[in-house]
Amino acid sequence: MRVLVLGAGFGGLELTTRLSDEVGADAEVVLIDRADAFVMGFSKLDVMFGRTIADAVHHRYADIVKPGVTFVQSTIRHIDPVRRRVETDAGRFEGDVMVVALGADLDPAATPGLVEAGIDYYTPAGAFAARDVLDSFDGGRVIVGVTSTPFKCPPAPSETALMMHDFLTERGLRDGSEISLVMPLGNPIPPSPQASEAVLAAFRERGIHWHPNSVVRRLDPQRRVVLLADGEELPFDLFLGVPKHRVPEVVAESGMCVDGWIPVDPLTLQTRFPDVYAVGDVTSVGTPKAGVFSEGQAGVVADQLIARHRNGRSASTYHGTGACYIEFGHESVARVEVTFRSGEPPTGIFEAASPQLLQDKAGFGARRARRWFGTQWVSY
Ligand SMILES: Cc1cc2nc3c(=O)[nH]c(=O)nc-3n(C[C@H](O)[C@H](O)[C@H](O)COP(=O)(O)OP(=O)(O)OC[C@H]3O[C@@H](n4cnc5c(N)ncnc54)[C@H](O)[C@@H]3O)c2cc1C
Repeated sequence: MRVLVLGAGFGGLELTTRLSDEVGADAEVVLIDRADAFVMGFSKLDVMFGRTIADAVHHRYADIVKPGVTFVQSTIRHIDPVRRRVETDAGRFEGDVMVVALGADLDPAATPGLVEAGIDYYTPAGAFAARDVLDSFDGGRVIVGVTSTPFKCPPAPSETALMMHDFLTERGLRDGSEISLVMPLGNPIPPSPQASEAVLAAFRERGIHWHPNSVVRRLDPQRRVVLLADGEELPFDLFLGVPKHRVPEVVAESGMCVDGWIPVDPLTLQTRFPDVYAVGDVTSVGTPKAGVFSEGQAGVVADQLIARHRNGRSASTYHGTGACYIEFGHESVARVEVTFRSGEPPTGIFEAASPQLLQDKAGFGARRARRWFGTQWVSY
């Protein structure tokens, strides 16, 4: 079986690892990504706030040594879902099965003024550049603002505001600063009222201004104000933006999308094209855009492909559950486990912030570094 895996993020890495662990060299897996390294979502915030350095959070694809797996670093230019074939800068590849795990791209230019006057901190490059800006920041009005839905890791903007509070406090700049968070959601973590209440209580304790059900429409670079969809204006000295999300262009042009994202069977992750699956942020499967969900979906695809290799059928279906860690600052982390099943309201189980969960979060990263790359998790 030749399996073509497009994208080496949470979904592509988990799928590749499972296939190699269980089928080995009997399956020919080609994993393609334009980048030379993987950076875990939450590591961006760690670098931005100076908890670690960029080198420590880069997991190099060159370190992947797995039976049956070939990693190709190249940009995918064209996807043919009918022939299960792609054209890349490194040539043409095709498979008996193709899995699209290309994630969501960011479009800062879609929000007028963001590129000129704000910082897109949702990409590794943007977050690493933000670190330098923060190093020379003397305090002032900070806005963390979301420009549209859906967006990756819904707790991340709240974590950013809480970590910003610690950052400014440690530098003696908090008294002369204001932190505001503009979010399109009514609550920080909608599936878990308990988690939302804990985050809102932390905002109140720290004097963080919370603007729910609001989106940033544009920034005025001359007047240094952010304009919200309801017409309100907020002045800023530092704007950290979550840009508009969309599928990578090559996916948009592939004919696989409906309403901007790839529709899939929510239980099997199959697309409408035979033997073509899609997992993670690139889909409209109905779970939030977060690595733990991409990984869970990749596991279900792996189950199906492994069963197929053994001439069987997998009964495994996607459960819609994922657990996220939430940084509360002050060296403590909470955890929320949420479940999204189609036709049912989402549910969440919350574990309050504690130093113990900080250790658990480090374990989450370490296990993935070891399984996916065979490397150690470097703490700085
Ligand atoms: C600040 C921040 C914090 C986060 N924290 C968490 C967290 O704590 N927990 C969590 O679960 N999630 C978190 N996330 C979200 C998480 O990073 C993403 O949801 C997750 O990476 C999605 O996985 P994926 O496999 O769908 O896609 P991705 O991991 O985005 O992988 C897609 C891959 O496709 C590649 N690609 C795209 N286009 C092309 C092309 N044309 N050619 C070749 N390669 C291409 C990209 O280089 C990329 O490596 C966070 C995100 C951010 C921004």
